[in-house]
Amino acid sequence: MKFGGTSVATGENTRKVASLVEESVKQGCSVVVVVSALDGVTDELFEAAEQARKEKQEYIQAFKQRMFERHCAAITKAIKNSTIRKEVEQTVRKIIEELEKVLTGICYVGELTPKSKDYVLSFGERMSAPIVCGALQDLKIESRSLTGKAAGIVTDSNFGDANPLFNVTMHQLKERIEPLPEEKVTPVVSGYIAATQDGVVTTLGRGGSDYTATLIGAALSVDEVWIWTDVDGIMTADPKIVSSAHLLPQLSYQEAAEMAIFGAKAMHPRALEPIMKADIPARIRNVFNPKNHGTLISSEQTSTRQDAVKAVAMIKDVALINVSGGGMVGAPGSYARILDLLGKNGINVMMISAAASEANISLVIRRNLLGRALSALEIALLGKGFASEVTAEDDVCVIAAMGANMKGTLGVASRIFTTVARKKINIRMIAQGSSELNISFVVKETDGEAAVRAIHDEFKLDKM
Ligand code: ADP
Ligand code: ASP
Ligand code: MG
Repeated sequence: MKFGGTSVATGENTRKVASLVEESVKQGCSVVVVVSALDGVTDELFEAAEQARKEKQEYIQAFKQRMFERHCAAITKAIKNSTIRKEVEQTVRKIIEELEKVLTGICYVGELTPKSKDYVLSFGERMSAPIVCGALQDLKIESRSLTGKAAGIVTDSNFGDANPLFNVTMHQLKERIEPLPEEKVTPVVSGYIAATQDGVVTTLGRGGSDYTATLIGAALSVDEVWIWTDVDGIMTADPKIVSSAHLLPQLSYQEAAEMAIFGAKAMHPRALEPIMKADIPARIRNVFNPKNHGTLISSEQTSTRQDAVKAVAMIKDVALINVSGGGMVGAPGSYARILDLLGKNGINVMMISAAASEANISLVIRRNLLGRALSALEIALLGKGFASEVTAEDDVCVIAAMGANMKGTLGVASRIFTTVARKKINIRMIAQGSSELNISFVVKETDGEAAVRAIHDEFKLDKM
């Protein structure tokens, strides 16, 4: 069972989490718990790391105090037994003192490397796991908290978005976690964080706790991985954008992966990989509405719905880059050169579209990488008779319409684009993967929500 940030945002919520775990344990299930940081804490750690880099010592002091108060308030509400409460308070206090030292160190050198940033980011989950563990002990469930590193998750050193080394991770997780439920101990593992083979702390990318959960699920060959969150499951659109969004009770791995990659935040984009291989189902469920069965993700394709489009998503925080120039026309390897360059700079390209004229290529990347991408492209390409212009737009978003039945269905694209055009929304770029599982396009971010609603209406996704 993985619990996201909102599920453990407050002490009251954490008690709810603990009682959900208790219920399953009392029914005789062996449960492994994976937790995220308290809601918003990872963002705050990001900010604190930046402030430390700018040598803002006062900010760090205030931040430390804020973290301490927030976590202590959660502990007070989550744990009634005073002995357990004091122990957890002590543990969290020590972790926060270590965090302060790390931030102070960054402050002194005025430099924030990807490595030290990951170290700072790891503290959110390091603090939340002991609290959930204490809340379980409070309910007389024997429990132990472990960091991702202690649990055995080993990654490469791609800080910020590290890749698990699959075989060693599987082996270590099985060795270290599997015996615990057999000893009637419920492990609580901090999600999102891991370590390299040398023990240097890494993170699995934003939303990475889902990934931690499925890695453990695969290693232990569990019956199901339950991802508990704050909505009923995966829906036809983000319920925060479309109020009539409908719950999708069943999705295939492929459909769910497509949705996760395309921003249905309900899940980390790579989280399905470990369990898909082992054919272990995942279920997305609502902590605040546990009666609902949520969305089941499995290899089965039971949907009877014939409509091509099943869901629509909006991906924010992206940027569009256009590289153009006559020198690219008919020049073998010109696209490869651009993609290779971005790849070498650690920039993942989310979407590509190139005109048949070959004089232009458009790419979508994460917005925070735009500066790095532009300088790499300009240094390497301009003035070399290859590309004559590199331009960028950073006020855009990607809209993706998805569904397995889109494959081979005629006219889906025209319906999507006509609907969007009727709303007088200008489309900046279009891409359809040859999997035909999704059609994605780029619009101004201010038009994004309207485009999502228009497509949701056109395909009557609220009437499923
Ligand atoms: P957690 O903290 O539990 O990991 P996330 O914030 O990562 O939760 O993901 C849950 C959120 O994803 C929901 O609150 C919802 O607003 C958003 N979301 C976006 N698209 C969808 C979708 N298609 N279905 C369900 N939720 C979605
Ligand atoms: N706390 C991390 C984040 O905010 C990981 C997660 O929530 O899954 O991205
Ligand atoms: Mg998440």
